[in-house]
Amino acid sequence: MRIVLLGPPGAGKGTQGERLARELGLKRLVTGDMLREAVAKGTELGKKAKEYMERGELVPDELILAMMREALAGADKFLLDGFPRNLAQAEALDRMLGEMGLDLTHVLLLDVPDEEIVRRLTARRVCPRCGAVYNLITNPPKEDGKCDRCGAELVQRPDDTEEVVRKRLEVYKAQTEPLVDYYSKKGLLVRVNGVGSLDEVYERIRAALS
Ligand code: AMP
Repeated sequence: MRIVLLGPPGAGKGTQGERLARELGLKRLVTGDMLREAVAKGTELGKKAKEYMERGELVPDELILAMMREALAGADKFLLDGFPRNLAQAEALDRMLGEMGLDLTHVLLLDVPDEEIVRRLTARRVCPRCGAVYNLITNPPKEDGKCDRCGAELVQRPDDTEEVVRKRLEVYKAQTEPLVDYYSKKGLLVRVNGVGSLDEVYERIRAALS
C-alpha cells in the first residue's frame, strides 16, 4: 500500500499513522517530524524552514520537494503524513512516483471539525526526547507532565498555541483542502470520521482501507 494521510493539523494523523504503518509494515514519512529534526540539528534546511514553521506557514515547495525526493528513494510501501500540502506538491509527487513506476493506492482523509481541532491542539503535549505524542484531554500521560515511554518532561510544540493553530487551520483550508477534490477526482479518496476514541477511529480506518 502507498497511502497519503490527509486532514487538518491535529486530526490524529500522527497517532493513527504510526499504528497503521506499524501494522501494515509501511515506511512512514512525516514531513513535520523531518523538518523539526532539521531545525533541532541546525542543518541548512532547518535554518531555512524554522521561521515559516514558527509562523504556521508552509515551508517553500523547493525545500520540501528536495527533502521528499531523497526520503522516497527506494521506498515501495509507504505512508505519507504532512505531504503533499498543496496542489504543486501533489503534482510533483505524482511525477516522482511516476518516475519510480509507482502510484498511490489510497488517500485517507481524517475529518475533524475546526472547534475540535483548536481544543485538541492546544491540549497536545509532546516528548522532546522520544517524540511520543499525548493529549491532556483524550490521551493523557499516566504521570502528569511525564512521558510514559521514556520519562522525559513533556512540552508544548511552539506552533500549538491558539494563535498559531488558527493560522495553521487557515493555511490548511486555503492550500491543502483543494487536495480533497484533486484526489477525489482520481478515485483515491477515502473519508473517515476522525472524532471518537483512538481505537474507534483506528477501526474506521482499517475498515475503510479493506
Ligand atoms: P505538521 O507537524 O505536519 O503540522 O507540520 C509542522 C509545520 O511544518 C507546518 O506548519 C509547516 O510549516 C511545515 N510543513 C510540514 N510539512 C510541510 C509540507 N509538506 N510543505 C510545507 N511545509 C510543511
